[in-house]
Amino acid sequence: MASGTDTVDALAYARKNQTIFLERLFELLRIPSISTLAENVADIDRAADWLVSYLTETGLSNAQKYQTAGHPLVYAEWLEAGSSAPVLLIYGHYDVQPVDPLDLWHTPPFEPVVKGDHLYCRGASDDKGQMMALLFALESYLKASGRLPLNVKVLLEGEEEILSPNMDAFLAAHREQLACDAIVICDDSIFDANTPVITYGLRGNCYMEIEVSGPSQDLHSGSFGGAVDNPLNVLVRMLAALQDSNTHRVLIPGFYEHVREIDEAERALLTAYPGGEEQTQLLTGVPALAGESGYSAIERTSVRPTLDIHGIPGGFTAKGKKTVIPAHVGAKISMRLVPDQDPDEIQSLFEKYLRSIAPPTVHLEFRCLGKALPAVVDYRHPAVQAAAEAYQRGFGAFPVYTRTGGSIAVVAEMIHWLGAPVVMAGLGLPDDQIHAPNERFYLPNFYRGIETMIHYYDILAAGRMP
Ligand SMILES: [Zn+2]
Repeated sequence: MASGTDTVDALAYARKNQTIFLERLFELLRIPSISTLAENVADIDRAADWLVSYLTETGLSNAQKYQTAGHPLVYAEWLEAGSSAPVLLIYGHYDVQPVDPLDLWHTPPFEPVVKGDHLYCRGASDDKGQMMALLFALESYLKASGRLPLNVKVLLEGEEEILSPNMDAFLAAHREQLACDAIVICDDSIFDANTPVITYGLRGNCYMEIEVSGPSQDLHSGSFGGAVDNPLNVLVRMLAALQDSNTHRVLIPGFYEHVREIDEAERALLTAYPGGEEQTQLLTGVPALAGESGYSAIERTSVRPTLDIHGIPGGFTAKGKKTVIPAHVGAKISMRLVPDQDPDEIQSLFEKYLRSIAPPTVHLEFRCLGKALPAVVDYRHPAVQAAAEAYQRGFGAFPVYTRTGGSIAVVAEMIHWLGAPVVMAGLGLPDDQIHAPNERFYLPNFYRGIETMIHYYDILAAGRMP
């Protein structure tokens, strides 16, 4: 059984070993583990091997690589805290984004360089630096007192940046091995260096492509215009019928049927998030904001579903003029979804509605280009509240809460297969330039992050998990 002394010792170890932690992080950062490029396959493998050795040296058991149809996953565990202690699953990813355009980097992308308070390198923030903060917190306990206050399973992915194509199958096949009371991810940015953030929800997605065809070939509008329906005119009329121009509500029947409304307490929680409408207007440069009636900008981008048209390929778009009636036109449309909307159901409602309003003068074809389940975790769950308390101790400030508009498929998949809440923590900053040249990590957040996670393991162990 671990004690409060262990946490004091772990914190002392973390403070004493900051330089060594940084050097270990450098070793991992120097491996160009770009998941999307064929020429980096051996590097991905080398990064996975590095992690297996690190976890073994740190004192975790069964550290090993698991081969998938793509890049390997790394797993390790420490289950000696006893059956009354909770089991925490730590998730991170060791793959990184490509580095082009190379000429915009001020220093080589895979050579870690410290300038002032920042560490520059691809992966410094997303996610090697943040992932290692979680692991260095484990090391601090294990090296200082030989034990952890709770049971831990570690799962590190090598395909997050290519949308985790093999995670769902791996989770399904290993659900017993991965069984846990809570999951923590540290792969996000906080509001600013003094305002930590806990993300407790993500929107899902249903991305559709529609093709509208009329005549068997392109036609001259002088000869045939007026006698045949122009597929582009039809498409534009149909697209306009997807959304009410005043209320901005999506007009697909049944679209809102399973949308979970938020209560007053959650509304107040989200309203406390700094920034708000002014910030949104400033960031986007739009003359005025718009969105679904009855909801704030924060609500519209987090707890409400939306529909956006991304492109309308077809017809003549080059310079000059051409009086064509195009034979085939299309549109790319995505819908951001919230709990409890089901992407499969939304796809069929979308198709059914557009077929019902299409005139008999055209043929329609649909393709789904991608789907992700929405996810939300109860922000009052003890595992989430423990993270809030840990941030308070590590950063000296309680976090603000948010549900984000984007989608991370792996979060919904872990909730689905493991039935445990996912705590989405973060140590990055909005200007870390992740996925871009000169990615960087704010080092004070790295060190405070390690201490925050030491507190997190302690608070989670002391609390009662349901
Ligand atoms: Zn990431």
